Amino acid sequence: MSEERLSFQAEVSRLLDIVAHSLYSEKEVFLRELISNASDACDRLRYAALTDGSLLGDDRDFKIRIVADKDAKTLTLIDNGIGMNRQDLVDNLGTIARSGTSAFVKNLSGDSKKDVSLIGQFGVGFYSAFMVAEKVEVFSRKAGEATGWRWVSDGQGSFTVAEDEAAPARGTRIVMHIREAETEFLEEHRLRHVIKTYSDHIAVPILLGAETTDSVNAANALWTRSKSEITEEQYKEFYHHVGHAFDEPWLTLHWRAEGVIEYTGLLFVPQQRPFDLFDPRRAHHVKLYVRRVFITDEAEGLVPPYLRFLKGVVDSEDLPLNVSREMLQNNPVLTKLKAGIVKRVLGDLNKKAADPEQAADYARFWDAFGAVLKEGLYEDYAHRDDLLKLLRFRTTESKGELVSLATYISRMKEGQDAIYYITGDEKSAVEKSPQVEGFRAKGVEVLLLTDPVDEFWVGSVRETDGKPFKSVTRGGADLSKIKGEEKPEDEKKDKASDGDLSALTALLKLTLGEEVKDVRRSERLTDSAVCLVADDGDMDIHLQRLLKQHGQ
Ligand code: ADP
Ligand code: MG
Repeated sequence: MSEERLSFQAEVSRLLDIVAHSLYSEKEVFLRELISNASDACDRLRYAALTDGSLLGDDRDFKIRIVADKDAKTLTLIDNGIGMNRQDLVDNLGTIARSGTSAFVKNLSGDSKKDVSLIGQFGVGFYSAFMVAEKVEVFSRKAGEATGWRWVSDGQGSFTVAEDEAAPARGTRIVMHIREAETEFLEEHRLRHVIKTYSDHIAVPILLGAETTDSVNAANALWTRSKSEITEEQYKEFYHHVGHAFDEPWLTLHWRAEGVIEYTGLLFVPQQRPFDLFDPRRAHHVKLYVRRVFITDEAEGLVPPYLRFLKGVVDSEDLPLNVSREMLQNNPVLTKLKAGIVKRVLGDLNKKAADPEQAADYARFWDAFGAVLKEGLYEDYAHRDDLLKLLRFRTTESKGELVSLATYISRMKEGQDAIYYITGDEKSAVEKSPQVEGFRAKGVEVLLLTDPVDEFWVGSVRETDGKPFKSVTRGGADLSKIKGEEKPEDEKKDKASDGDLSALTALLKLTLGEEVKDVRRSERLTDSAVCLVADDGDMDIHLQRLLKQHGQ
């Protein structure tokens, strides 16, 4: 087949434009990205070979080789992983297939400074090769297929693909034609240092030089090493690799379980929200291994959706190696793994949450992932109590700080028997809403619930510690029974007599007619003249609005 020229997907072109023209300071990360891909490719072939042993042929030892040629000014990276055929090359190296990408591209502002920092968070994977190379050639042959292919691009709008017998017998060879300004990446000591820094955790041996047989990295799976042998840097780099993440982990959990089931978990809670956090699929990002062999990163049921922010690996000793991805779903071992993960993660989050010294740190986690965690309140009844302890709120009295339910309850006023809340889209709006005036005047704290998910869990949880959750936009909230701190200026306000008011309410009822169910005198207002409330048995006002938006 003759050479074909194809255009990059528009998103890729935008990305490449930023990559090539921005002064992204850590250019060396391109090597980490390419090694990470090569290692993934070996993992994928190891898995495929479980069901089709012939895919490996007599080339059974996975490795990644890196060769610099100072005369030709090329840096070459070779792996004997799964390889790519023509379609794979076009799909994988011409588009951005990763979920969350459209969200990411939408976030690009055109302001190069901001975009560079965004790219730092998102990572550009394979395309980062163009930070140091003016031309990239990818020779590849997919395991089990006869035809080899060559993909070539200068990173400017298009690439070519053609059949090429110069492709490796199996796997991928990437040849980077290094820019004049970046020839430091042809120096062996520089390369060695970069590999050590970013890729030591890679489980496949990385060989530097055309002939060497000694690997630069330790070449065993990081999670199999004991904690005391792993530095924080290594954990971080592993997190970047396994999570396709670029921030620092907020929390690292590394444990080995021995008992009913045997497994190792190495999980990370990120610092930053990934771009696909609110993707409707609600997929998690924990990779499942069985005795060091990568099985899948889509093991449904391994991690509940409300913990989908977790990244990392779980390596089981009990699942059969030949477990198909389909068979996993109802596997009892998977159910036990999930129970172990949930217990461990909620336990460690609770330790953080309960420690007053770590309140600021926990607040960062809460602001990133609290809205997701709350989904567990109605999806995982068994862990509801653990989850309730993790909840934090901004309230009418908290001055922007986060408050736990225990703190709220300890501050309840005499005669107050409910936990009051108001829901809405924005904190500043709900805070000022007329429905909270009376509560504020009495110093009765009101939770400000501004995540869309809030409507659902308050409706489902209903009460905690014997205290019901009550919306201040409902008629039943009876403020007169609560002994608040009457604020002095209230007393100075003119109090209308009941007589005046009944004439007014009668007039309002007459005027509004069918538009309202009732017009009542209220204790809850201090500054505003009127406010809308829902009747006790009726749907909360914000929920009515939410459902209307969704056409219900
Ligand atoms: P990501 O690794 O996050 O998927 P990349 O841009 O790094 O994104 O890589 C894009 C895709 O290209 C990979 O998902 C993989 O399918 C393919 N790919 C890249 N490098 C290789 C390789 N060495 N061997 C096989 N496939 C590869
Ligand atoms: Mg990658």
